[in-house]
Amino acid sequence: MLRAFFIFLSKANWAQKLIMNWRFAWRVASRFVAGINIVDVINVTRDLNAQGLNVTIDHLGENATTAEDTLSATKEVISLLQAIDKYDVRANVSIKLTQFGLNINTDLCKSNLSKIIECAKKTRNFIRIDMEDSSITQETIDLVNWLKGVYPGVGTVIQSYLYRSEQDVLNLTNDCIPIRMVKGAYQESAQVAFPKKNEVDENFDLLTKICLDKIRQCNEPEISDDGRFPPLIAIASHDDLRISNGIDYANQINLSKKNYEIQMLYGIRRDLQKKYAELGYPVRVYVPYGTHWYPYFMRRLAERPANVWFLVSNLFRN
Ligand SMILES: Cc1cc2nc3c(=O)[nH]c(=O)nc-3n(C[C@H](O)[C@H](O)[C@H](O)COP(=O)(O)OP(=O)(O)OC[C@H]3O[C@@H](n4cnc5c(N)ncnc54)[C@H](O)[C@@H]3O)c2cc1C
Repeated sequence: MLRAFFIFLSKANWAQKLIMNWRFAWRVASRFVAGINIVDVINVTRDLNAQGLNVTIDHLGENATTAEDTLSATKEVISLLQAIDKYDVRANVSIKLTQFGLNINTDLCKSNLSKIIECAKKTRNFIRIDMEDSSITQETIDLVNWLKGVYPGVGTVIQSYLYRSEQDVLNLTNDCIPIRMVKGAYQESAQVAFPKKNEVDENFDLLTKICLDKIRQCNEPEISDDGRFPPLIAIASHDDLRISNGIDYANQINLSKKNYEIQMLYGIRRDLQKKYAELGYPVRVYVPYGTHWYPYFMRRLAERPANVWFLVSNLFRN
């Protein structure tokens, strides 16, 4: 119930205005968001790199409604790729297609993506296409396949809560397209998604195994030395059991630690991030920045009631 409510709030304009004007909300949100601009995010990335953690940077924004907004988001991502290159940090970039016009016009989205890919090629970096709600899963996968034909340094995300994901994993791994495995962060109906947490978890383990089994068939099965190009599978979860089940299976089939990576979100389970990095596993932290932090923040609240109580209890203290 609480999860559904916060995901509903993440799309409500009135709630966005209310919460973004409340100064304390930013203080809580900044636990999950690295700052407002490129300078902020490069500084955070440097700190994480110094702790042995790789990074994927996300310029926050989604569901753009004007072509102008998509163009300025495109410019920002190009500047971000250039900054990663200039400051030589161990980071790649994650993007959401609705920030670049997927909801407006596919050609506009393709044109923006072409500019980003051109810059990724020049700066030798990797672009991860995040997965949004199920209404655009197929379009997202179609565009990932199109991009892969233009530049191999592209991957996407699979959500284990969707029934369709097993087939998507088989198709994507046959083409050696890198996958980030997640449980899924949106509100989906039982028509398209497993309603029970244990089913989502079981499917996560199954899909992770399928990816691990395919690693040796792909040309570049290991994470690149500069920490930018990931292997075929990233196990992206803060659920220690999902990670350890993936590692156990990888050990069973004699994969090395560099054949897969572990990903977690900035500000969540830092203890686990540190633990796996110290054990020698490549760990990548997803670091968002920018002024459009509201929907991302609401999804983080939706995932964990304790975050909401922290916010609410401070509301009454202020
Ligand atoms: C690197 C990365 C990229 C992602 N990209 C996408 C994407 O493109 N599309 C998409 O739909 N989803 C994405 N997600 C989100 C994902 O789908 C889940 O919603 C999120 O990771 C929570 O699920 P979990 O696997 O951590 O397991 P859960 O069972 O939800 O959580 C396990 C434990 O992790 C901790 N935890 C989890 N969430 C929080 C939180 N918000 N605050 C504090 N503690 C928490 C708690 O201790 C909890 O008990 C991404 C997640 C990661 C890690």
